[in-house]
Amino acid sequence: MSDSSSRKIAVVTGASSGIGAVYADRLAARGYDLVLVARRADRLAALASKLSVAHGRKVDVLGADLTNEADLVKVEQLLATNPDIRVLINNAGLARLANFTDAPYEDTQAQIALNIVALTRLTHAVLPAFKKRNEGTIVNVASVLGIHAWSASSVYSGTKGFVVNFTRGLQSELAQTGVRIQLLLPASTATEIWDNSGIPLSALNEDSVMTTENLVDAALAGLDQGEAVTWPSVADGGLWDTYDAARAALFAATQTGRPAPRYKLG
Ligand code: NAP
Repeated sequence: MSDSSSRKIAVVTGASSGIGAVYADRLAARGYDLVLVARRADRLAALASKLSVAHGRKVDVLGADLTNEADLVKVEQLLATNPDIRVLINNAGLARLANFTDAPYEDTQAQIALNIVALTRLTHAVLPAFKKRNEGTIVNVASVLGIHAWSASSVYSGTKGFVVNFTRGLQSELAQTGVRIQLLLPASTATEIWDNSGIPLSALNEDSVMTTENLVDAALAGLDQGEAVTWPSVADGGLWDTYDAARAALFAATQTGRPAPRYKLG
């Protein structure tokens, strides 16, 4: 992600606040022109003028509701047709943290539409050009809740679990190419997502919450170090290796073709 003589564009979804806004700043500082995507076009415009002054980059805004078919198609078309796009940060996301049976189904649908469907479609739109050029970087923002579920996070965790497995599978598919896809698993980060989720940020243990700047800088450090999977808040990196090895061993143990002895009757 560091050098090229031609123009390089990074597309950041969910750039109007939180993690996405910091990605926009950091990528502009690294020499990328930007396309900022989110619904709140006024916020995108303010960020765009700030970043273009600060970093001297061209920053375009694309107001889009990624759960709206026509808007999603607009962003897909941009990703599929602009050859200068080198980076896609699949960051836009929504959390509605409430028990599944108590929450209106619209909340479930909105999380699936944004966290799963939009992320998948944007990835599908950009990959052919990346593969053809044998170059390009996608960052899929999952969550530590992609491997863990509370009673109030069943749908959110389910959507982020999709991002985890989708990204891991794609990493295998793309392993022999020059295209990179990083799986990012943030823990609690100080953004608007909490107050919008039903659990206010103020209810969290302050010590467990990371700043957006620290989160994005750690994520980019992981990317620079060639990591496929980045856990910004986990000090013991060996924990992931142990977890992933246990997962692989469990999967291998499923390949027997017969019921385990404990399920045999009599
Ligand atoms: P945030 O400040 O609420 O940002 C979410 C972004 O997504 C905003 O820019 C929002 O912009 C955009 N967005 C929401 N709905 C959209 C829609 N329908 N169409 C287009 N854009 C939409 O929260 P954040 O914490 O930075 O979230 C960024 C990512 O990090 C998400 O994928 C989230 O799941 C993940 N994450 C966050 C945490 C955390 O604790 N903060 C932890 C783990 C993972 P508009 O409202 O302007 O559309």
